[in-house]
Amino acid sequence: MATPAPSTVNKTAHPFEKPRLEALLNRRFFYAPAFEIYGGVAGLYDYGPPGSSLQSNIISEWRKHFIVSENMLELDTTIMTPAPVFETSGHVARFADWMVKDVVNGEVLRADHLVKGVLEGRLEGNREARGLEAKAKEEGEDAKKKKKSKVKVTAVKLTDEVVKEYESILAKLDNYSGPELGELCRTHHIKNPDTGNDVSEPQQFNLMFASSIGPTGQHPGYLRPETAQSHFLNFSRLLDFNNGRIPFASAQIGRSFRNEISPRAGLLRVREFTMAEIEHFVDPEDKRHERFHEVRDVVLVLLDRHVQAAGRTEVVNMSVGEAVDKGIIANETLGYFLARIYQFLLKIGIDPQRLRFRQHMANEMAHYATDCWDAEIENSTGWTECVGCADRAAYDLTVHSQKTGHPLVVRQALKEPIVSEKEVAEFDKKLLGKTFRGDAGVLSKLVESMDESALLKLKGELAQGPAVVSTPDGKEFTLAPELLTIERRTFKQSIREFTPNVIEPSFGLGRILYTLLEHSFWCREQDVERGVLSLPPLVAPTKVLIVPLSARQEFDPLVHEVSMKFRNAGIFSRVDDSNTSIGKRYARNDELGTPYGVTLDFASVQNRTMTLRERDTMDQRIGPIDEVIATVTELVQGTIDWDEACKRLPAYDGVQAVE
Ligand code: AMP
Repeated sequence: MATPAPSTVNKTAHPFEKPRLEALLNRRFFYAPAFEIYGGVAGLYDYGPPGSSLQSNIISEWRKHFIVSENMLELDTTIMTPAPVFETSGHVARFADWMVKDVVNGEVLRADHLVKGVLEGRLEGNREARGLEAKAKEEGEDAKKKKKSKVKVTAVKLTDEVVKEYESILAKLDNYSGPELGELCRTHHIKNPDTGNDVSEPQQFNLMFASSIGPTGQHPGYLRPETAQSHFLNFSRLLDFNNGRIPFASAQIGRSFRNEISPRAGLLRVREFTMAEIEHFVDPEDKRHERFHEVRDVVLVLLDRHVQAAGRTEVVNMSVGEAVDKGIIANETLGYFLARIYQFLLKIGIDPQRLRFRQHMANEMAHYATDCWDAEIENSTGWTECVGCADRAAYDLTVHSQKTGHPLVVRQALKEPIVSEKEVAEFDKKLLGKTFRGDAGVLSKLVESMDESALLKLKGELAQGPAVVSTPDGKEFTLAPELLTIERRTFKQSIREFTPNVIEPSFGLGRILYTLLEHSFWCREQDVERGVLSLPPLVAPTKVLIVPLSARQEFDPLVHEVSMKFRNAGIFSRVDDSNTSIGKRYARNDELGTPYGVTLDFASVQNRTMTLRERDTMDQRIGPIDEVIATVTELVQGTIDWDEACKRLPAYDGVQAVE
């Protein structure tokens, strides 16, 4: 039997076409609009079987990569949240986007998205007008750029100056306030692209879904827009669980809700989504990370805030170590998590060439953050934030503690006690009450509030005789020396009390899942209709397809045996015994991203051999059933690659190899 030459796969023979991917995802029920037969609701989606499996596999890897590998404390907390929590956190006042209304038909548009869409559309029109499309095509970018803008493109030439201005606005779009967005609409004559009508001044729209708890309607609540707050509210318990030690991290995977203004971007902008969030609690005076050395050399693509503020978008490739040393990334712990996010995204199949880390500009930063980086993944709509990683400082713990009176602090025994001296004032309480009666409280508070120098001054005056003190509103009291003693005392502090800072990596799983699907999708060179999702085995919904060549009963025991053996090896397999041709069955599973297929034919029944097909190359190998199962198990576990599998199993060029 001749061994065929190793297959080469050309995944870029056909340019990416979003409608083809969307048709596939819909056909195979990865996800679909929720409440579809009622007409659907924008921004709400249901995941079907492959979408759900893909999401749980991503989550399972996330748990291993973060929770297990870093000993994080996992939480599962309540979604419905009483209003005071979000009043305190600042969400009621500030968790809002800017919207504008079409002044004629009242259509609501998100202000920054409107500006972006219109300016990108004009830039594209300019490119077309200048005949630069051909050049863009050479660079393989035309398809991507075409899809970026939802606005109808008209070829209008712009001056170089205007092009520069538009590009500069787009580079710092996230930094504009609402009134500034309104100003941009006016200056650049930005109107509703669907109607050509003017738009109103931007107004703030709070993104939280309001509700009420209980039958009386007297207890307002909100569906949480992030999982983070409940980590903070449980801080004392978590700290206790961790034996009072920090740093430590809590983690949670759960649903969040945001009433997005006009979600039109599929899974990229939805109103209900799964988040995976980590809150890493750290000493504000020591933000080093004990495992930083493991990631020091990881090179990231960085787009820092100064470059964007200057209206530019060029990136640098820099190791995390260098970026932290140079102060570009604020501290080791933030840098550590950026590198771990990068490693996770690559592991599940995100293309590293289409991944960058963008720092927030000053205005863009959430109200609590002191430094913030987004992992952005490029897709057919442009660059999309998929993971946010913020240093939230001590903001949340401080405000919740102030509001509730519950101390959300760490108390640490000091190795060396701190010894200090200070002046201490002590009243003769009996005499104070007798002399000043109702004013005794005011007077003692007044003296308590005095600083060291005021106390020293008073001490000097009392040494000479009675002294006069006065309240801020001018009320005077004369103190006799026997009423008050002020003396220098020594203090020993053996406990340090502080509010930890929080570094928060926050993942939106739907965005990661969708961009992964785009990065994995391609069409076979010989037939553009044959789409493939090259999902890594780690996250692929099904790992192996078992294909009996015939529906005859004599195959049943073998199919059963192979299924059971895969199950026992922990490999998720499915049997496809439908009546269609083997080629069609494989094509369907290429669309589902199933990385391997095993075929049971008459030889299997007679000789106990089985063929193994690899999805991308369509290579087929053959070997004894148990050996094929062992090879697939290792492939799925990632301990060997396909080249190694080919060394173990000879090539197969039998009939079913023809698809
Ligand atoms: P944020 O708290 O706004 O930084 O969001 C954290 C993460 O949640 C983002 O990086 C996104 O991945 C995800 N996310 C935020 N809003 C949405 C949305 N409307 N639809 C889908 N994912 C979202």
